[in-house]
Order: sequence, then structure tokens, then C-alpha cells
Amino acid sequence: MLLSLVVPVYQEESSIADFIAQVRQALTPATDDYEIIFALDPSSDRTGDIIEEHRAADPRIKLLSFSRRFGQPMATLAGLQYSSGDAVVVMDADLQDPPELLPAIIAKWREGFEVVLPQRRQRDGEPWTKRLVAAIGYKLINKIADVHIPPNTGDFRLMSRRVVNEVLRLKESHGFLRGMVALVGFRQALIPFDRPPRLGGRTHYNQFVGSLRIGFNGVYCFSTYALSLSTLLGFVIAGFSFLLMAIYLFYKLMGWQILWGNPTLVILISFLGGIQLISVGILGEYIGRIYEEVRARPKFIVERAEGFGPTLPPAAK
Ligand code: UDP
Ligand code: MG
Repeated sequence: MLLSLVVPVYQEESSIADFIAQVRQALTPATDDYEIIFALDPSSDRTGDIIEEHRAADPRIKLLSFSRRFGQPMATLAGLQYSSGDAVVVMDADLQDPPELLPAIIAKWREGFEVVLPQRRQRDGEPWTKRLVAAIGYKLINKIADVHIPPNTGDFRLMSRRVVNEVLRLKESHGFLRGMVALVGFRQALIPFDRPPRLGGRTHYNQFVGSLRIGFNGVYCFSTYALSLSTLLGFVIAGFSFLLMAIYLFYKLMGWQILWGNPTLVILISFLGGIQLISVGILGEYIGRIYEEVRARPKFIVERAEGFGPTLPPAAK
């Protein structure tokens, strides 16, 4: 029974050695049969070299490196595609996804769960902006999206081979793994844990806009609610204008003088302009995504795949 660890990495020279050591230590009692696939966005530091050094000593360590920086979601998908394990765990290299959780995760999988999700109990070391976005984001997405995404779960998760294959079969190119796994379904288990702060280095995401973008991407990719919102607003505003018409008519019939003037007009025009631009923007978000899907560009380009042997896993061909 082979376990694959898929680890997207970018500029993580300070974490790799500790990461490998901790994984090894955590997995020793549970299983010996595993591979660690580092999916490397070309980094200017020594990350690649350090992985190579470890690879030379341990063939279970494998390296996928891309022709350019494709970003964490695509690196993760590439890792899934090249994995051959009966179960695959996606985790970060910075030890924020603690390897000591692995035995508990594997135990759940052996109990028969196809997806095991470690769930963050608290978010230490994260700025309040990110926590706020997470708190509101998960509420919103679970209200309006077609899928249920367990809050505070991130990409850290175990998936059975069946789930991985189904996720890979989805041709979507947005890379919102949480949504895709939720879409695929199967039995899920949650394991609560406390997410520690980063071991070293720094994150390459913008702490506020980064989470916001990921969140919006999730909403747009898994719900068409925003489109209905424009329709709804349209009805509300049309209703409002009918009301105004009635009021004006009433004033006219009563022979009263209508006092509303320039300011009202300015406010109404700019209000409507705003609403219309927002609606066009929402349309644009969906059209942009259609454009992306239609072009169907490759999600990533592998420059080097080391340690995978002559027979690549079926999904990678
Ligand atoms: N990462 C990556 N490509 C990128 C940015 C990040 O592969 O362009 C990796 C990074 O090395 C780490 C994981 O993705 O292993 C999560 O990144 P980070 O710790 O910065 O994000 P956070 O913990 O804030 O979600
Ligand atoms: Mg991190």
C-alpha cells in the first residue's frame, strides 16, 4: 500500500531538510512504503539543490520541476497527476501542515474514509485580515455554492486513489482543490488540529488580497449565484423606479410642487452607473473563466521529472 505525499514548493530552502526529517519520523511506525513528490516552482534559492541532495540518498524522494512558476494550485495538480500512491496527501513544505498528524490521517483512511481533512481549530500566526476573510468566506461559499466545503480546511488533506482519479478527470483549470474534492464527494472525515506558524522563509501570497482572490475564485467557480444577484438587483431597482413614478404622479395629481432636484438626479445616476458596472464586472468574471476553460491551455509544463522511473503513473501520460 503506497502513500504519496505531494508537496508544492517555492523558495523553501530553509524548510526542506526539516520537512523530510519530520515526515520520515512521523511515518516510520505507520508505513514504510511512501513517496514524497516535491512539485517545484523554479526558485532562485537553493530549494531545488537541497531536494536533489536528499533524492540522491533516498529514492523515495521525487522531484517535478516546472518550466516556470505555475503557482501552488497547478503544482499540486501536477503532483497528483504524477503520484502513484493508493492514497495521496497534499501538504505544504513549511511545516504548517504538521507531519506528526500523518499517522492519525492514515488511520482514518484505513478505517474506510476516502477523504481525510485536517481542520484548523485556531489560526495562530495569521493576520486578522486573513482570519476575517476566512470566517466570512466559508460562510458565504457554503451558503451559495453547489458544494459544501468544510470550513478552515486548506489544501492539506488525504485523498484515496479513487478520489484523486476523479479530481484529475475534472477538466477545470481554476485549481480550487477544495472545491474539486468537495464536488467529487465520497466519505469524508475531519481531524481537528492547531496550525502552527511558518517554520522559516516567508509566504509569497499577499495576506489579504491573496485569500480574498482565492475566496472569490471559489465563489465564481462553484456558484452562479452572483449572476442571479444582478437579476435580483435589477428587479429591486425597477420596482423602486415604479414607486417613484407613482409618487411623482400622485404629486402631480394633487397639484403639489415636486421639490427633488439636482442632487437626487446625481445620486440616482451614479447609483445606477455603479450597479450596472458591478453587474458587467460579475458577467466579466464568468466570461473570463469561460475564456480560460475554452482555451484549455496546459495547466503546467514539467521541465524535469526525476525519480519516477521509465513507467510514469497512468494519469501523468
Ligand atoms: N508555493 C508554491 N508556489 C507558489 C507559492 C507557494 O508551490 O507560487 C508553496 C509553498 O512553498 C508552500 C505552499 O505552497 O509549500 C504554501 O505556501 P505558503 O506557506 O506561502 O501559503 P500559506 O501557508 O500562507 O497558505
Ligand atoms: Mg504556509
